[in-house]
Amino acid sequence: MSKPILPLWINGQRTESRSSRRADVTNPATGEVIRQVPLACRDDVTNAIEAAKAAFPAWRETTPLRRSRILNKFRDLLETHRAELAQLASEEHGKTLEDAAGSVQRGIEVVEFAVGAPHLLKGEHAENVGRGVDCHSMLQPIGVCAGITPFNFPAMVPMWMFPLAIACGNTFVLKPSEKVPSCSLRMAELFKEAGLPDGVFNVVPGDKEAVDTLLSHPDVRTISFVGSTPVAKYIYETAAHYGKRVQALGGAKNHAVVLPDAALDFTADAIMGAAYGSAGERCMAISTVVAVGNIAEALVARLKEKAEKLVVGPGDRKDVDMGPVISAQHRDKIVGLIDSGVAQGATLVTDGRGIRVPGFENGYFVGPTLFDHVSTEMDIYREEIFGPVLIVLRVASYDEAIKLVNSNPYANGTAIFTSSGAAARRFQHEIEVGMVGINVPIPVPMAFFSFGGWKSSLFGDLHMHGMEGVYFYTRTKAITSRWPEQSEHSASTLVMPTLG
Ligand code: NAD
Repeated sequence: MSKPILPLWINGQRTESRSSRRADVTNPATGEVIRQVPLACRDDVTNAIEAAKAAFPAWRETTPLRRSRILNKFRDLLETHRAELAQLASEEHGKTLEDAAGSVQRGIEVVEFAVGAPHLLKGEHAENVGRGVDCHSMLQPIGVCAGITPFNFPAMVPMWMFPLAIACGNTFVLKPSEKVPSCSLRMAELFKEAGLPDGVFNVVPGDKEAVDTLLSHPDVRTISFVGSTPVAKYIYETAAHYGKRVQALGGAKNHAVVLPDAALDFTADAIMGAAYGSAGERCMAISTVVAVGNIAEALVARLKEKAEKLVVGPGDRKDVDMGPVISAQHRDKIVGLIDSGVAQGATLVTDGRGIRVPGFENGYFVGPTLFDHVSTEMDIYREEIFGPVLIVLRVASYDEAIKLVNSNPYANGTAIFTSSGAAARRFQHEIEVGMVGINVPIPVPMAFFSFGGWKSSLFGDLHMHGMEGVYFYTRTKAITSRWPEQSEHSASTLVMPTLG
């Protein structure tokens, strides 16, 4: 039976794609194709950019307060439709409904932050920077902004980008992951219902062709990207080549350092959620435990016990803790990495390969997997697995743990578990990672702080949302002014002016 084909969203309308290429959107719990998505072609994306460009002058002139009222209505509609968005995210991604609803909530919080744009857009002012001279700065919108998002947070990651960009007076073209396009299209409809003028927000699901059009089009001024490190690097280099402002967030390998004085049960519970929630397909998942000193034995025993109790199944079943991974191809990659861990000498404590979920034999399931005695040369340490696989490395000292974390090329998030304030303080001071948790396993900053890693986890300068997001989506203009009396003379000099 033929499956429904999703539209694009251009200039406030559902729009049929001109592309002849389509991708299947699959329910990963059943392996069934549930709908198809057009892979937007160059013409489609160009139309979306043109719509956004045409909408920009009027949106820029709309006062921040009026823009903010529309965002406030959008917030209310997102709240009303939270369950529907969570259902779409769960159906296309596989994560549990409760987990999906939590991530929609974290996205809504960015909209709540963006509602404060009239306050956030205030510049600075200083009187008498010279005699009779004042200086002030303004934050002005840039124009057409674009976002390219990954499969693992179908609603939240797009909401890291477009609400704030639009609140700042820009217009936006979003290219969501072709694997999970429905939340973005639904959010576009809700934004229109909230009163957003046509053309301010456009959605063009697609693949490399759509991305490359955004990267090279002269009317696109900024690129926000979230996805894997090789693509993030490509996006950063290409968009910079075309003179665009870029923030490109990449992959991760997040370590939890567990010191011997950590509260054992609390720590084991926290790591479980962080490792296996969303089947490990979170950029802030804890995938690596660094157990310091003699805590390893007891910790691994507890993790094993808890991992083996997790219920794996379809995300929309109430008793399920962990859903499938995104695709058959990704499942096979994860299983291949587990095989490599065994072959390279790690101890496989809990094996999630070959799991059967009765009634869902065609789903893309991998069971919770736990490795102990992993070393830094093994592929399961070196690669981002992005699945429900937790690895434990044992080290003798805290110094060794810090060195290990700081030597990893990824630097998105990390956490320390300890009851020592001094050890925690040393961690936050010395660790070279963008987001740090102290007895907090997934330290995702709230919307009013900024989200982003360091090193190979972020290419660009400014992180997402919070004030860094505001600075990313605006240009600062500094104005120096003087109002002379009719009788005043200007100092006529060719010397470099100094005001002080
Ligand atoms: P991905 O890099 O494969 O895809 C991300 C986006 O880029 C998608 O929209 C995709 O269509 C597009 N894309 C893919 N290949 C491309 C290419 N060759 N040229 C141009 N565009 C291309 O990532 P994914 O598999 O969708 O998501 C998982 C990855 O995202 C993981 O590595 C994860 O760590 C990362 N991630 C990072 C963060 C973060 O905040 N740092 C957050 C979420 C996910």
